[in-house]
Amino acid sequence: MEKRRFRIAGVEDYEQYIGAKAVERIIKKAKNLSDFHIANVNSTYYGGGVSEILASKTLLMNSLGIKTGWRVLHGSPEFFTITKKMHNALQGGKINLSKRKMQIFEDIIFENAVRNHLEHDIVVIHDPQPLPMVEHYRKRGPWIWRCHIDLSNPSRGIWDYLLRFVEKYDAVILSLEEYRKRLAGPQLFFMPAINPFSLKNRELKEEEIDERLKHYRIPTDLPLVVQVSRFDKWKDPEGVIRAFKLAQKEVDCTLVLLGSVATDDPEGPMVYESLMGHRSERIIILSHQDSVLVNALQRRAAVVVQKSTREGFGLTVAEAMWKGAAVIGGNVGGIRCQIEDGVNGFLVSSIGEAAARIVQLVKNKRLRKEMGQRAKETVREKFLMTRLVEQYIDMYSAFEASYRLPGR
Ligand code: UDP
Repeated sequence: MEKRRFRIAGVEDYEQYIGAKAVERIIKKAKNLSDFHIANVNSTYYGGGVSEILASKTLLMNSLGIKTGWRVLHGSPEFFTITKKMHNALQGGKINLSKRKMQIFEDIIFENAVRNHLEHDIVVIHDPQPLPMVEHYRKRGPWIWRCHIDLSNPSRGIWDYLLRFVEKYDAVILSLEEYRKRLAGPQLFFMPAINPFSLKNRELKEEEIDERLKHYRIPTDLPLVVQVSRFDKWKDPEGVIRAFKLAQKEVDCTLVLLGSVATDDPEGPMVYESLMGHRSERIIILSHQDSVLVNALQRRAAVVVQKSTREGFGLTVAEAMWKGAAVIGGNVGGIRCQIEDGVNGFLVSSIGEAAARIVQLVKNKRLRKEMGQRAKETVREKFLMTRLVEQYIDMYSAFEASYRLPGR
């Protein structure tokens, strides 16, 4: 039997998109960190933007010679119910933060700290779930809190509670300047990015797209309007359905809502169930974990929608824009940094606006194509993984210069 050759995409593969100079620069910077050991900790291995970014970022870092690992929190359903409530409260939702909830939260984090030996040069903790881990270690190097959530308007109480942990970190990374908090330590702002070589984003042949859509019995006789998102109220799937129903009065099309259920999001199945009554021949609601299906849908869609009402960044927007899709996004958070309204997509603030833009785009193929081309160029310039990896390398290097790492 022929021996299989394994290979992951390296920074050289990005040359076609970012040029040889940038590739060389990144390789050179990474060389200075070649004996570094870095750990990332988050709360799910699939199903949302954070795991998507970590999957690609850790591989690219390792391919550059920087030893970068990824640990995932283990917790009971009760723990994840509490952390999802915290997540919602950080985005402005309500929470009754009882002593019991705080105790369960902190106890499970302690158990995770006992089983995870984090003696790395740098530890990067993602989002609020693993935040208190920092209390249980003797630091060997900087600990960084990377929060992917829109922190601009947290509900009262939650931020005061979490602040005691946040303040123990050496730096905080947020997605946008507008999420800046009042903190004593440094704050950096890194927007997320996509991996153009992953199954989710790589080129697909028309036959491959047809095969995936056929496999899930998605009809392709009418233009597709697509939203790919966790089943989460902040993604406003109800609003998408209402906008679609309005648009349907003027144009014939099919709606596909695809959502996976992340292990750290116990609300997903409930939101999914609540949408079932809307299913019809032209409203297709699917829950599958299939990256190639996401890729196929974003490529074949006449219109991609991401009608969020809160969105830290919204990686699905960059993913769809990379495929040359015309995207209609909610005018919130990180979506506003990706879509320039009327240029490379549309921003909308209501169901009526979303419906009108769906109609306009379904009717106008030329507009879709022009917007899609500009959208792809935006992602090439700003949202490829090499940009994000270089930001991390620069930050690690700055720490190496300023932080006395014992034993170094
Ligand atoms: N995603 C997926 N399958 C789904 C729904 C979402 O693979 O059915 C992925 C999506 O492609 C993207 C990520 O989950 O990579 C969602 O990231 P985003 O930043 O848009 O939202 P989050 O879920 O992190 O709030």
